[in-house]
Amino acid sequence: QKKHKVTIVGSGNWGSTIAKILAENTRANADLFEEEVQMWVFEEEVSIPKDSKYYDEAAGDKPQKLTEVINKHHENVKYLPGIALPSNIVANPDIRDAVKGSTILIFNLPHQFIGNVCKQINGHILPYARGISCIKGVNVTDDGVSLFSEWIGDGLGIYCGALSGANLAREIAAEKWSETTIAYDPPAMDYSRAPTPRTGSPNPTTGEIPEIQHTDARGRASKTKLTAVPSDYPPLDQDCFRTLFHRPYFHVQLVSDVAGVSLSGALKNVVALAAGFVDGRGWGDNAKAAIMRIGLMEMVKFGKEFFGETVQTATFTESSAGVADLITSCSGGRNFRCAKISVEKGISVQEVEKQELNGQKIQGTTTAEEVNSFLKARGLESEYPLFTAVNDILHGKRQVDEIPNLMSDS
Ligand code: NAD
Ligand code: 13P
Repeated sequence: QKKHKVTIVGSGNWGSTIAKILAENTRANADLFEEEVQMWVFEEEVSIPKDSKYYDEAAGDKPQKLTEVINKHHENVKYLPGIALPSNIVANPDIRDAVKGSTILIFNLPHQFIGNVCKQINGHILPYARGISCIKGVNVTDDGVSLFSEWIGDGLGIYCGALSGANLAREIAAEKWSETTIAYDPPAMDYSRAPTPRTGSPNPTTGEIPEIQHTDARGRASKTKLTAVPSDYPPLDQDCFRTLFHRPYFHVQLVSDVAGVSLSGALKNVVALAAGFVDGRGWGDNAKAAIMRIGLMEMVKFGKEFFGETVQTATFTESSAGVADLITSCSGGRNFRCAKISVEKGISVQEVEKQELNGQKIQGTTTAEEVNSFLKARGLESEYPLFTAVNDILHGKRQVDEIPNLMSDS
């Protein structure tokens, strides 16, 4: 029996945290997975300060490649400092080499970079690979709004699910308990281990692996024809992904609502900016709770309006990816913190991001813009007053003090 090879595409604050979880689980489940986890790192140079335990007299403060530092010290000193990474994580600056031969691809990087990354790996992955997107954002084009899970899947010709939850990376990296939601619902052929070959299983005579039409996260026939996972691998089913992600400190709930999970993770970042704005004005917890209530309603409305075929309200109101992520993001997330500081200091959120985050990226600013351009093109801005107000405040067209009036009908 073959084993699954796992690659994580991305190595930021959340990327490195998820890499740690994956590597702990591949090590613990040698029957299913190859132990080594490849982690693609967007290469950059870092200087190790003199007071760091990794400071090397010979190298001095000469900048060193981040991949080399990670592989030598088993720590991502820039994006997840102070957290020991398992030694079976291999940091790799070559994206094509990192994904080569992997049956499991985990996409975890700021959403603005995924397009370029997919372009580079297209045609260089296994046709029967399966993916999970941990990206919190939506992809807006002239055609409309799409989920990164859909977009990655269609672009690479594979099935891609989504992981999202109340998951502040620094807490999970420190192994403090949290929950997450994984939406993974490929067509049944992946689970087929019947002795009599069925559609999707390799042809017993030729060994040829057929392609299968499946439905996307909106319930429509997908543009992508899926290649079945060869039967000499363990099934790439929900159980497999539970084993890969579940830890005693990271509890996984598996669902089938890919659209609901992806949209929750993207839209809550816009709400978290609003929560930061009102907190920055010193309006207290009641105002923040009002923002969360209105924000949750707009999230559900957006999901129902544009992904109504498949999206389930319960994903927003009951799962970790929905209401729980909204609460944690409006309490201690980076979008919340940057928006709060921007109001306190009277500077833009983007400026705060540059000053405070040491290269980490927030997703709410671009998502607010993308969602707004989508709504504006359809004349629907007034139906989403909170999403619209956040975008207008980011662009200096509205003031935070106008929020209560703008929400009067919500
Ligand atoms: P991050 O905010 O730490 O971003 C920095 C990463 O971007 C680094 O790995 C850097 O190398 C990379 N990068 C910079 N320029 C690049 C380029 N041109 N091309 C490719 N990569 C480049 O990233 P993160 O926290 O790992 O976030 C990834 C995704 O996970 C986001 O969608 C985020 O919303 C989501 N998320 C984050 C957290 C969290 O607490 N950090 C939790 C849950 C989900
Ligand atoms: P921020 O990107 O705002 O830190 O949110 C992290 C997150 O998604 C928590 O679940």
